[in-house]
This record gives sequence, C-alpha cells and structure tokens, in this order.
Amino acid sequence: MYEFAVTPAVTQIRRRGVEISEVSSGSLGAELELEPGDRILRVNGRVVRDYLDFRFQTAGETDLVLDVRRQNGEHWELNIERNEDEAFGLSFEQIVPRQCANECLFCFCKGNPETARPSLFVRDEDVRLSFLYGNYTTLTSISEDEMRRVIEQRLSPQYVSVHATDLEVRAYLLGIDKQRADITGKMRQLLDAGIEIHAQVVLCPKINDGDILHRTIYDLAKLYPHVRSVAIVPLGLTRYLNEPRLTPVTPEFCAQIVREVRAVQDDLRRRLGTTFAFLGDEIYLRAGQNVPHRNHYGDYPQIEDGIGMVRSFANEFEALVPRLSHRHRSVASASGKATFGTIMTGTLFAPVLQKLIHRMNKKFGTCLHVLAVSNDYFGGDVSVAGLLTGGDFLAARDQVIGEFAIIPRVALKSDELVMLDGMKFERLQEQFDVPLYALDFSGFANLLTTSAQTVRPSPRGRRIPAYA
Ligand code: SF4
Repeated sequence: MYEFAVTPAVTQIRRRGVEISEVSSGSLGAELELEPGDRILRVNGRVVRDYLDFRFQTAGETDLVLDVRRQNGEHWELNIERNEDEAFGLSFEQIVPRQCANECLFCFCKGNPETARPSLFVRDEDVRLSFLYGNYTTLTSISEDEMRRVIEQRLSPQYVSVHATDLEVRAYLLGIDKQRADITGKMRQLLDAGIEIHAQVVLCPKINDGDILHRTIYDLAKLYPHVRSVAIVPLGLTRYLNEPRLTPVTPEFCAQIVREVRAVQDDLRRRLGTTFAFLGDEIYLRAGQNVPHRNHYGDYPQIEDGIGMVRSFANEFEALVPRLSHRHRSVASASGKATFGTIMTGTLFAPVLQKLIHRMNKKFGTCLHVLAVSNDYFGGDVSVAGLLTGGDFLAARDQVIGEFAIIPRVALKSDELVMLDGMKFERLQEQFDVPLYALDFSGFANLLTTSAQTVRPSPRGRRIPAYA
C-alpha cells in the first residue's frame, strides 16, 4: 500500500507553470524579489510543468530568462546571470499525481475503509513520483510525452509493477486488456535509453505464483543489470477487500514460496552475482522463518518497498548494543533506576523485536516491554507496523506498562504527524497517561542513551514532541 510521502494536492486544479511556496532569505530568489504564490511559467522559453522541470531546465545554466506570473497578476521577464553553483533558494508546490486507469484485483484503494484519509484513495501512476519516492507504476498509461521526459530528464531509476511477464496473467491482474497490459516495448525503450528499473511482483496465490512467478523472475533477470532487482511482496487483504478471485496468503503458502524462490536466488547469485529477486520480509516472518543474512540484500535495492527492513533493523540494533554499553550503564547508575517502558509495534514484527529487546534487558537491566498491536482498522491479514492507526494504538493503551511508550514513526505520515485514520499524533499523545514518542531507529537509540534525562512520568494531556 502506498501513501504519498508528500501531501498530494488531489483537489488542486492544474494551472500553468509551477508555484513558489517558499523563498529562502538572502537567496538569489529573494534578491530577484520572487515571493510565495508567484508562478514560474517558462525557463529560457521552455514550459515549466512542475518543480522537476524547473530543476532540470535551470541545472548548470548561468544565463537564464524566467517568465514569471506574479500573484497580483503582473507578468515579469527576469534576465539572470548567476554562478553555476548559485542556488535559487526556492521551494515549490508539490506535484499533482497522475492517476492510473487500471482496475487491479488487489488495488489498495478497494481495501480502505470509507473513513480513510482522501489521499489514501489516490490511484497514483506517475513516473515523476516513481523517480522521486520509489512509488511503483504499471507503465500502462504512460504517454509518449512522459516517456520522452523520463529519458530526457534521466528520471532513473523507475519502479515498475510487473506482476507477471505472462501477458494474459498481467492483464487479468490489472483488469485491463492485453494490448494495454503489454509494456514490453516501453520497458525496452527505457532500458535502451539507460533508465534503470526496479520491478515488483504483488504475489497472488493461484494467479501469479508457481511457474508464472518462476518465468517472471527469469524473464526480468535476462534484463539485468538494466533491470536491477525484483521485489516480491505478498497480496494484502483487508476486511474491506472482498474480491472472490483472490486467495488469502497463508503461512504454508509463504513457506512454499521461500523454498521455491530460494533455489532461484541461489542460481541467480551464481550467474549474476546478486540475489536479484527479493522476497518481502513479511513472507519470511509469516512462514515462521528468520529473514536472510545481511549479504543476501547487497545494497538493499528494495528497502523502500520494505524489503530487508527487518534485517537492517536487527543489524543496527546489534551494532547499537556495544555503543550503548558504556553510556547506558553510566546513565542508569546516575539515575538509580532502569529504563522502564513499552514499545508498541505490529503483530508481524513484534516477535522479532521481543527477542532483540529481551537480550537488551538482560544485558543492561532495562525493563522494556514489546506490545504487539493488532490492526483493527484495516483488519484482514494486515499486520505491519506502518499501517497501524491511532485507534489501534488507543485500543492497546491499557496494556502499556512503565514510564513511557513508543510507537513506530513509520505509522505517521513523513511530512505530517498524522496517522492513517486521520488522528493527529498530538491527539493520541493527549490520551496516554505516559509520554508517548513516535520513533524511528535513530530516535529509539537516542531515547535509550538519554533515558535518565528524558523519561519521566507525565500527567495525562502533556504534549511531548515526537522524535523524527
Ligand atoms: S495500478 Fe492497480 S493497484 Fe495501483 S492504484 Fe492503479 S488500480 Fe490500484
């Protein structure tokens, strides 16, 4: 499931040019007297559609003519000479995402409750967001103009949901005809132009597993190194996605996939020197197995898709322990008490975290408790931490023990402290009796090393800033 890393202006009408949202003081933009609300229409006569265009058309240019429509309706033509490395100091409005024209069997939009935030219903299919944030596209509705743009502006890598190289199966999964589902030519065009692709397969039992999956991986492996990797992630069913053609993913299915794909991975590592086809962490965990060793993931090419996150977290945790050793002991002895609190996470990751935390508790005498929080908002087999909502954390509040509680930072939007059910983090904090933190790994490490100073009981309603 995707949500935008930035707030999409879903209701915004497209206007010419790109709007300035901020001008840094003392910058070239400020010197030119540009202001928020002004729109840049053209750079050196070329139309500007969004901030990527602006970035591309100004890069390396020292003599520039900017066509600007000011907020008050005035038109300016600015002739500029600048040093090559002199930045404009401008921030721009976010990109308005283009929408897909598919009807995927497993579309996440169909799996949302009606009350979910509007941005969760945006069916984005946008090569710009693919380049910027690693959002997957299917390439089915990409226009010639967009293809040219990807190539000209080097919007590489692109993230492409392939699902199956068998055309019939791909068309069936995407809910479109075979002609539109066929992206062989488009992929070839991008790869020939030097654009790299990371592929994705959303694995649907009885549809694109077995021989279809085997063929998909090997077809894509033939395109290595231009196709850099394939992520294989399991279908996620919520209680709202009642599609009778879909079969739920079970632990037995996951175990079988691990077995089958391991043989393929071994073969590809011998031939290509890389694992190439990576299984989602969820597949290993639901199969009741450990995630692979660090070497398996190379440079973690699909980490944005959640692949290798558990391994990466476990490794960072192991590395943290010796670093904490000296500092934490001194902090704990200075405070005269052990760190005592609750870490809330999804039911999938909780057992892994419990093991790590247990070792830490034994080593340092800390008293950290891991609380597995069920996802009632989406229901079904949704068990990852990133899809937990404010309501889910509230439902588990009574099981919190100790002097503080932590929720995963990934459960909040990246640019706004709000959860998927629309609850603001501040509002959630107010309803906990202890300080509540939203932490990523470095925030967690930070909390541990400064625990004696930071962790104090607080009355209900006190606001504590989130670690980012
Ligand atoms: S490509 Fe498929 S899954 Fe993605 S938004 Fe469109 S219909 Fe939904």
